[in-house]
Amino acid sequence: MPEQMNEEQLKALQEKIKQMSPEELKEFQKKQCIFCQIIAGKVQSKKIFEDNIAIGILDINPANPGHILLLPKEHYTIMPQLPEDVLSHLFMAAKALSNSMLRSLEVQGTNIIVANGVAAGQRAQHFMIHVIPRKENDGISFELPQKSIQMDELEKIGKKLVENLGSKVEDKEMPKPFVMPKKIVEAQFKEKPKEKEAKKAPIKKEKKSIEKIPKSSKENIDLDDIAKMLGVK
Ligand SMILES: [Zn+2]
Repeated sequence: MPEQMNEEQLKALQEKIKQMSPEELKEFQKKQCIFCQIIAGKVQSKKIFEDNIAIGILDINPANPGHILLLPKEHYTIMPQLPEDVLSHLFMAAKALSNSMLRSLEVQGTNIIVANGVAAGQRAQHFMIHVIPRKENDGISFELPQKSIQMDELEKIGKKLVENLGSKVEDKEMPKPFVMPKKIVEAQFKEKPKEKEAKKAPIKKEKKSIEKIPKSSKENIDLDDIAKMLGVK
């Protein structure tokens, strides 16, 4: 798409978009999306994780060093569009990446964040999960206000939420998505040949520790250690 369009061209484009089938629209969105370009290998990135469903790349403007953007390979804009197995897979990957950060980056915590919608601070067109390594006093603040609310309002809101929850969640006592993590365990963390020249010491350090995940994620994750690091224990 050209950088500058006159009014006529813009109108023509809007008309064209209106006429598009959902498939055509998705293709169009993909072409406009920088993350789809990264996933297609047309734009360079530092991949930390990749399998057939998801990709994790280092944010080039990180909130903290090691900040990872975890993306579904398919183009989805907001969370409601994501199939449950894909979403489940992404969060399992987020867990693995978070564990890797805790083991390798000398951090005491991680934030795992989704900005779902513009009002929530979403800027990218492509759904993503941020996995951010955290240290105390690292200058990032997620302090949420603690507003006061009347009991009857609390009840009213609660009722609305319960009514609109649907049966989907209850249906999933033995959810299928939880079969998916195996794929993460087996995921390859191979370095792409073209990225070799970009290999630098700090990156190498991270890679090395992430490579440990697949083997150790089943038996050897020491949850006590992680809990200690998080200050839970
Ligand atoms: Zn995209």
